[in-house]
Amino acid sequence: MPNGLLSSAARRVKAAAGWIIFRTGLYRRMRRDEAVIVLFHRVNDALPNDPLTYTTNKFEQFVRFFGRYFEVVPLSVLLRRLETGAELAACLAITFDDGYRGNATIAAPILERHGQAACFFVTTQYVGTDYVPWWDAQKKIQTRWMTWDQARTLRAAGHDIGSHTETHPDLGVIPPDEARREIGGGSTRLDAELGEHSGLFAYPFGGRKNMSAANQVVVGELGLRCCLSAYGGTVRTGDDPLRLKRTTISDWYLSPYQFGFELMTGRLKPE
Ligand SMILES: [Zn+2]
Repeated sequence: MPNGLLSSAARRVKAAAGWIIFRTGLYRRMRRDEAVIVLFHRVNDALPNDPLTYTTNKFEQFVRFFGRYFEVVPLSVLLRRLETGAELAACLAITFDDGYRGNATIAAPILERHGQAACFFVTTQYVGTDYVPWWDAQKKIQTRWMTWDQARTLRAAGHDIGSHTETHPDLGVIPPDEARREIGGGSTRLDAELGEHSGLFAYPFGGRKNMSAANQVVVGELGLRCCLSAYGGTVRTGDDPLRLKRTTISDWYLSPYQFGFELMTGRLKPE
């Protein structure tokens, strides 16, 4: 059998196993001390072949799955539980990176219909512009970023807004003073636009190689409450808020139950 078919058949089997694991309540019984932070980028039906983009239909399947089997909480609530040592059992926070306009116009209305709140991390100098970053230029995607008014409306509706640097550099390669300017500048601008201190921060790209120990120190010195990665894994009591593991929901998952299977069997371990 060709590799692609084999992989697709294996994923269908995993999705079926995931269905059993969640429908029988096994997940909740087995994973009492663990929280999950998931990462999306775009929700949009106009870009069906872009791996950063989920269709509205598939996104809503995940939202239903989260609502059914997890306690979906804003990231700020999950952080408070972590800071106070409260129980994390089956708690899940939804996050979005970069600040695409469709997060406000398409994803947020779906979340709100299901009574869920997310955290939106915005690249502050892109907000309100049509700037096309290199990863979209390669695919000839005309990018649209949310406006500050949309960010404020999301906040007023109960979502969290976090910073994601000023211009989305790879923090693993730029000099320390530039990294400090990018992280600090993004956080200061966000606070000024929203009129409150968010303190929520996610690394651009978010792989291990995109963050350095020096930058993690900078983030703490700048008064940020958390740093989110994107290399997989779950959150447990006692974890350092400045090194939080987060899992990307990619198009590799045929269904939320396959995601659930990988979660249950520990395959979402850090890469
Ligand atoms: Zn990003």
